[in-house]
Amino acid sequence: MAFTWGVSTAAYQIEGGVTEGGRGPSIWDVFSHEPGRIADGRTGDGACDHWHRYREDVDLMAGLGVDAYRFSIAWPRIQPDGTGPANAAGVDFYDRLVDALLAKGIDPVATLFHWDLPQALEDKGGWLSRDTAFRFADYAGLVADALGDRVRLWITLNEPFIHMTLGYATGEHAPGQTLLFGALPVAHHQLLGHGLAVATLRARGAGAVAVTNNYSPVWAASDSEEDAAAAAAYHALHNRFFTDPLLGRDYPDLGLDPSVVRDGDLDTISAPLDALGVNYYNPTSVRAPSTPDSPLPFEFVPLSGYPTTAFGWPVVPDGLRELLVWLKEEYGETLPPIHVTESGCAYDGIDDPERVAYLDGHIAAMRAAVASGVDVRGYFVWSLLDNFEWAEGYTKRFGLVHVDYETQVRTPKTSYAWYRDLIRASR
Ligand code: BGC
Ligand code: BGC
Repeated sequence: MAFTWGVSTAAYQIEGGVTEGGRGPSIWDVFSHEPGRIADGRTGDGACDHWHRYREDVDLMAGLGVDAYRFSIAWPRIQPDGTGPANAAGVDFYDRLVDALLAKGIDPVATLFHWDLPQALEDKGGWLSRDTAFRFADYAGLVADALGDRVRLWITLNEPFIHMTLGYATGEHAPGQTLLFGALPVAHHQLLGHGLAVATLRARGAGAVAVTNNYSPVWAASDSEEDAAAAAAYHALHNRFFTDPLLGRDYPDLGLDPSVVRDGDLDTISAPLDALGVNYYNPTSVRAPSTPDSPLPFEFVPLSGYPTTAFGWPVVPDGLRELLVWLKEEYGETLPPIHVTESGCAYDGIDDPERVAYLDGHIAAMRAAVASGVDVRGYFVWSLLDNFEWAEGYTKRFGLVHVDYETQVRTPKTSYAWYRDLIRASR
C-alpha cells in the first residue's frame, strides 16, 4: 500500500462563516468573544473564509499533489444545538467539499470533533456530562449517512488530552474551565463518545475508523528519583491515559472517580481500530513540584539547547522517532497502523526555510521509526493554511500557504514548493 502524504486543518480554525448555513454557536464562538481570552483579541468569525473559498483551497492541495486531506466537520453546522436531525445546509457544505476533493483525486479524511462543541451541549455540562458521549454518536451517525460512501478515513476525536487539559483543567481553551484533576471525567466521556461513534460508523458501513491523540515524549529534568516520578506521572496523563483504554487496558491510576466508568464502557472504548492518529509537536521536560502543596505531581521545565519555533516550542525531530518506537514497544500487537495526522510549526514569513528544515527533520525521524519496524502509513502536515491558532489568535502561522487576513489572498510559501517536490519524488 502506498504511503499517504497529506495536509490537515480544522473547521473553526479556517472556515469563518460562523453564522451562515444555519450553523449554531460552538463553545469556541462564545469563548473567543470573551475579553482577554485570545492573544490578539480576535475570533474565528472570519478565519480563512474557507466556507466561501474551499474550491481555491482544494486547488492549492491539488497543486501540492497530496494524497489526502484531513479536515474537521463542525458539529454545530450539522446539529446547530447539538441534537435532532441534520441541518441540510451544513451537510451540503461538506458534501461539496468531499466531491471537490475526489474530483482532484484527493482522499477525504474527516475528523468528527476538533473541539467545537455546540454551545447548547456545553450548557448541559459539555464533556463533563456522560450524555454528551451519546449525543456525539448520534451526530456521527448523521455524518456517516451523508458522507460515509466517500470519506476514506474517519477520525472520531482530535487530541482528547489537549481538549480536556486546556479546555477543562487549566482554562486556556474553550470552554475555559479550571478543574485540574477534576477534569478527568472529560477524558472518559470523550473516549466513550469515541467508542459509541465507532460502533455507529461501523453499523453504517463507513470506511476505516481511527482516533487522533497528541503525544509527547516526557523527559525527566534530572536523574533524581523525584523527577523520574514526576515524569512517570505526566507520561501516564499525557500519553497513556488516552491510549491504554483504547487498546484494551484499564486507565492508569490518576484518580479518576471509578463511578464514572460504568460496566461495559471499557469494551465500548476498546473496539478495534483501523488506524491510530498521532500528532506530535515537541517533547515535554518535567520535574518534581517545587512546593509541597502543589496541586499537581509535576512541574514543566523549558527544554534548553534546541532551536525554537515562533511559538517558542523546541524543535526536536527525534522526539517523533522516540514516541513512535515507544508506542510500538509499549502496545505491541495491539497497536494499529499509525498515521501521523499532525506535524508542523509556527514561523513567520513566506520564505520559510525554518519550516522546510522542521518538516525535513521530522519526516526523516518518522522514516527512522519505520526502518526500525513501526508501521506508519501516512504523514499530514499541520497545516495547509495559516489559520486561527486558538488562544494565540492569528499571531502564530503554521501554514504551507500564507494567508493575508485582510484580503484573504493565499500565497504558497517556500515550504509549499518543498513539500510538493518531496511528494513528487517519493512516487
Ligand atoms: C519515556 C520515553 C517515551 C516517552 C513517550 C517517556 O516517559 O521515558 O521512553 O518515548 O515517554 O512519550
Ligand atoms: C491541534 C491544532 C493546533 C496545533 C498547533 C494541535 O494541538 O490539533 O488544532 O493548531 O496543534 O497548536
